This record gives sequence, structure tokens and C-alpha cells, in this order.
Amino acid sequence: MKRLLPLFTALSLIISGMVSAQETDTVAMMADRIEPEVIKWRHHLHQNPELSNREFETAKYVEKYLRGLGLEVTTGVAITGVVAILDSGKPGPTVALRADMDGLPVPEKNDLPFKSIAKGMLDGNEVPVMHACGHDTHMAMLMGAAKILTEMKSELRGKVKFIFQPAEEGAPSGEKGGAEVMVAEGVLKNPDVDVIFGLHISSNTDVGKVRYKHGGIMAAVDPFKIIVRGKQAHGAYPWKSVDPITTSAQIIMALQTVVSREIKVIDDAAVVTIGSIHGGNRSNIIPNEVVLVGTIRTLNKAAREHMYEAIPRKAKGIADSMRAEVEVILPLDYSYPITFNDHALMDQVLPTLVRTAGQENVINSKAVTGAEDFSFFQQEIPGIYLWVGGKPLDVSEADSPAHHTPEFFVDDSGMKLGVKLLTNMTLDYMKNAK
Ligand SMILES: [Zn+2]
Ligand SMILES: [Zn+2]
Repeated sequence: MKRLLPLFTALSLIISGMVSAQETDTVAMMADRIEPEVIKWRHHLHQNPELSNREFETAKYVEKYLRGLGLEVTTGVAITGVVAILDSGKPGPTVALRADMDGLPVPEKNDLPFKSIAKGMLDGNEVPVMHACGHDTHMAMLMGAAKILTEMKSELRGKVKFIFQPAEEGAPSGEKGGAEVMVAEGVLKNPDVDVIFGLHISSNTDVGKVRYKHGGIMAAVDPFKIIVRGKQAHGAYPWKSVDPITTSAQIIMALQTVVSREIKVIDDAAVVTIGSIHGGNRSNIIPNEVVLVGTIRTLNKAAREHMYEAIPRKAKGIADSMRAEVEVILPLDYSYPITFNDHALMDQVLPTLVRTAGQENVINSKAVTGAEDFSFFQQEIPGIYLWVGGKPLDVSEADSPAHHTPEFFVDDSGMKLGVKLLTNMTLDYMKNAK
């Protein structure tokens, strides 16, 4: 259920909404004016994608631009991250805006004048690289917002921190990267950030539309491993074994009942998937050991905590009943928090979305069980993550190419709304802050 705004907040929102209508028009005019530049930046970035933690030229391009705006710029944050501060010189909150920078090892199939033919190195092999998730548009939109906010500096209070983040798609094996490392390196400190806003372009959402959700909008990811240890025996004499294969089969089925029987699925979806089973090597040997590897996806804290308790409980209970031993490693190698839109902040931001995009273009979205490392920022401070439409209106949703595929495509015309949203969310937050 949506929380009701206290009367005072609601009234102040209405009043500030009226006051800032004119500024929204100013922002809209400026976004119109700079749109050709935003498109030009996007085309350059699209044509020159780089893999996660290797965004060296991308970082230089962004850095040069931000210095040109006269901002205070720090580079090399979490390897290739670029952070710029716009200081209004007046007391007030610090608002962070974030764009991710990395491309993917995907060969571009689209026949575009700015098609990528770039190559990169992944695990010692040369691979094609493409901005197949639209992070090129994220950078271009944030560069656009930086330009408008810099021009409007005299109307700001506090500071804006522009965060260009590497490695959202995951660091190469053996490396760390992305939002988690930026947070560890203190990106949300000095000046301390009050709130953070971020956008993802969407290839299946119409240009001009924005999708939002209160609470969990993208899932937490918790990979896990279960090692089932038994006693090896000849397959013809199973009574001499403690069989990890039949034990594992029961554990896999029991894990399916965690979601179906223990998680309150009417609140939020949840997923447990076993993606790998390894054990044994021939028909007539019962092996010593079976290894299961899986992933958990949750959209609220209670469900996530429940999974952490239930998965070892189920595995251990079944192993005990089968005389086997079990070891549960959870989380396995990495973990992403829930991309969680703070309820009160979402209430506060919603009028800005409506005013910027128009009521009919603001969609209360369902959550997805994919993940986003923007969640590491939201784990520290309140933040809002939104989806902005990049699908041309003449393409049906069924025909829209998926993210991370060679056909992935988002239209330039979708970026203008993103520029306006980033700008207006910042302006309105500053206006409403104490
Ligand atoms: Zn992606
Ligand atoms: Zn992405």
C-alpha cells in the first residue's frame, strides 16, 4: 500500500510544484537546445565502447567535457570512474546523479551510422564490444544534465555530484569494480551525499515514458554453493553408500518450496534457481560428493533474510535425514543488494516525474528480477532508480530487441526526457530540502 503523504508535505509539494512550473519550462527549453549535442556525445560513445574496468578513453572523454564546464573533477575512482562536483556556493543538500560507463562483449548487428566496430580484450581473447545495454545514453544524458545545471548554478542550493561509474556489468574475473568499489573509496563522502538519482534506458519502453516503483525495483542477487558429502560405493551396492546424488535431488526440490511455501509472494516476487549440478563420473559408482550452484533473487529485505535462513536449514535437514553432510556457502563470490527506491523519497519525486513527463507518461512499473549495482549507493543513502523509454513508437514491444543482444537498439529521441528528469529531480530536491 502506498504511504499517504503528511498534509504539510503534500501542501508544500503543491506549492513548490506551482513555483517550479516555470523553471521546468526553462529546463525543457534548455534540453531542447542541447539535444543535438547530447545526441552527438551519445554517437561518439556508442561508436567507441569499452569493456568493464577498461573505460579509459571513455573516462578521458567525459573528464575533458566536465572540466570544460568548469567543474571540480576527480578521476581514477574505482579504476576509471570520473566524479565531478558543481558547487552552488550556497548552503544546501548534496545531490548525486549517476551514469554507468561500460559496454559489453557483444557484436553489434544494427546498421547505424554510429555502429560499433570496437574490439576489447576479455580473459586474453579479443572480443567485439558494443554498448548493448545503453550505458552510452546514460553518460550522454548525465552530460546534458551537467550542462543545464551548470548554466543554472545561480538557482541551485548546495552541491551536485556527477558520478560516472565503471563496471556496472561486473568486473572481469579476478577484479573488483563498479558501484561497490566507488562507495568503498568514499564517493558518497566529502561532501556527504544526501540522495542519489539514476536512470536506465529501456529498449522496451516507449520513448517519452518513465517507469518508477516504490520499494524494490530490481532484485538482490545472492549466488550460493551447496556441497553435499556422502560415502562412495559401487553402484550395485548402494546400501554401502551415503548417496549424495539422491540427497542432492531432494535438496533441489525442497529449495523450490522456500519460495512457494515460505515467502510472502503477494508482496514481491522471489526466485531460487539451481544452475549447475556436478557429481559422479560413471553409471556404476555412487560418488563421494555433489556440488550444486544457484542464485537467489529477492525484492525486499524480509525475503532476502528469510532465504539466508531457509536455504541452509532445508539443505541441512535433508542431508541429516540421509546421513550425508552438507556445506552451504552463501553468498558465494559476490552479492548485490536490492535496488530499493526509498518510499518517502519516491513520494517526494513523483510530482517531479509527472510535471516533467506528463501524467500519462509516468508508469507505475512492476519490479524485475534482474539486478543493478546502483543498489550499492542506495544501501548507504536514499536513492531513486527509474527506467526511461528508448523504444521508437513504431516498434511493438514484442519486436523490441532485448538488452545485451547484438540487435539491442534505443532511439536518440528518448534521451531528452532523461536529461530533463535528472535536472528537475535535482532542482526540486534542492528546493524542498530544509
Ligand atoms: Zn546491462
Ligand atoms: Zn545496464
